[in-house]
Amino acid sequence: MLNIENYIGGELVRPASGEYLDNFDPSTGEVYSLIADSDDRDVHLAVEAATAAFPAWSSTSAEARHDILMRLVALIERDLETLALAESVDQGKPVSLARAVDIPRAVANFKFYATAAMHTANESHDSIGQNAINYTLRQPVGVVGCISPWNLPLYLFTWKIAPAIAAGCTVVAKPSEVTPMTAYLLSRLCIEAGLPAGVLNIVHGLGPKVGSAIVAHKDVKAISFTGGTKTGEEIARVAAPMFKKLSLELGGKNPNIIFADCNYEEMLATTVRSSFSNQGEICLCGSRIFVERPLYDRFKSDFVAQVSALKIGDPLDPDTDVGAIASQQHFDKIMSYIDLAKAEGGTILTGGHKSEPPASAGGREHSASDADSQGSAEPPARAGGSDLNGWFIEPTVIEGLPHDCRTNQEEIFGPVVTIMPFDTENEVLTYANSVRYGLSATVWTENLSRAHRMAAKLESGIVWINCWLLRDLRTPFGGVKDSGVGREGGFEALRFFTEEKNVCVKL
Ligand code: NDP
Repeated sequence: MLNIENYIGGELVRPASGEYLDNFDPSTGEVYSLIADSDDRDVHLAVEAATAAFPAWSSTSAEARHDILMRLVALIERDLETLALAESVDQGKPVSLARAVDIPRAVANFKFYATAAMHTANESHDSIGQNAINYTLRQPVGVVGCISPWNLPLYLFTWKIAPAIAAGCTVVAKPSEVTPMTAYLLSRLCIEAGLPAGVLNIVHGLGPKVGSAIVAHKDVKAISFTGGTKTGEEIARVAAPMFKKLSLELGGKNPNIIFADCNYEEMLATTVRSSFSNQGEICLCGSRIFVERPLYDRFKSDFVAQVSALKIGDPLDPDTDVGAIASQQHFDKIMSYIDLAKAEGGTILTGGHKSEPPASAGGREHSASDADSQGSAEPPARAGGSDLNGWFIEPTVIEGLPHDCRTNQEEIFGPVVTIMPFDTENEVLTYANSVRYGLSATVWTENLSRAHRMAAKLESGIVWINCWLLRDLRTPFGGVKDSGVGREGGFEALRFFTEEKNVCVKL
């Protein structure tokens, strides 16, 4: 069985404990690889390696950094199919999504920041009358920590690592222990690309052991974290008194607001997607759907019909729409929220159950590569003909709940949405803004003035008008309220990983 090892100082190394955790295939519920069970000793080694690499990497020219990162891009593109299969098996997502979104986005992240680093300019201020000039230096902050979740594993991991490395920082990173596979494959590609030792270090293991050791380490100057709000609180509690820079991308409970004058067909198709893509395990999925009353009955009937027709299946089947839930623990959490919705008086319009095991698309045997192999990526594990007795949940639509009940206030992060009618703009704004979260919102209307009014008043970091998940990497990304602090994306991320210094020269 494959051992997922740490990547420290340019090499794949065993954890100090010598212990390994089980890595599950969520479609079968079976262990298919082992993960280094690291602790603060491994984090310490990784920080030492990153500290040693920092002087050379931070003074490497932007063009040289660009060239190395673009070598990595070429290798990810070469291995796109293997990485997509690995992501699908490890996370449970449909392979079609991994092929079209997750891995291409990892490529885009590295491309964007590799080139952005060559096009940054610093300001200067001509202090006329004082015979002086001020200029701003933006210097890499040093060793930084990047911690990412399990829902979009390589996509979100690289969204942090790419700007950090491009800015001249060295990195100690931790993927979620639920989905470590593509981060491990990436570490092998980094070796192949010739990324200098210590520039990127990946420490696998549990959040409370590895993640917390990264956050608490005195030599880690900044933390970029994506994950749940509760974990974000804990990280802020430890890092804030140490005056670390913090970027926190946290949970969401996003409203999807549908006015009767919308482009109906486009809205309907997109709303199915925005509700159930990646089994609803995208922080930007709309989980509370508000529909203007004149459209409510038509929407309800068409939406339920389309959701019922979604194909729940083997993630490796190219026709699958809804795959497996990433872990047993998360499966249990989602099922408990479906029970809660019923207890709160909700009516399940479709779904609501653990799904029957879908047919296997015929797996791929894992070629049991040895733990020290540093060649190109290997195919992912799935014993051919396996029974898919893992964690599948039917896409679920619920109605009849008030906006302020727990089901409509707490993040479920699964294939579960509620639908609710509304009559006026002010009413729906009250509903939409009633939650502690403020990550994203979607508004469907052909009335541009109304769209603008809504966008200005919605309490969220991102508003989509007549679309969803349309991303331009240059735009700022992040949430308000309990959805986070700081912005990622574009030049914001490069700024986060640099410290501004003003230099004043008297002429
Ligand atoms: P968690 O907060 O549980 O975990 C996120 C990462 O933090 C994991 O790598 C985890 O490790 C690690 N971690 C756990 N405890 C600690 C700790 N005490 N100190 C440091 N690191 C720790 O989130 P999930 O993985 O469950 O991801 C789902 C959440 O992420 C949802 O709330 C979702 O909304 C949010 N999210 C937000 C996004 C945004 O952009 N705002 C985007 C995507 C997801 P391990 O898993 O190995 O224990």
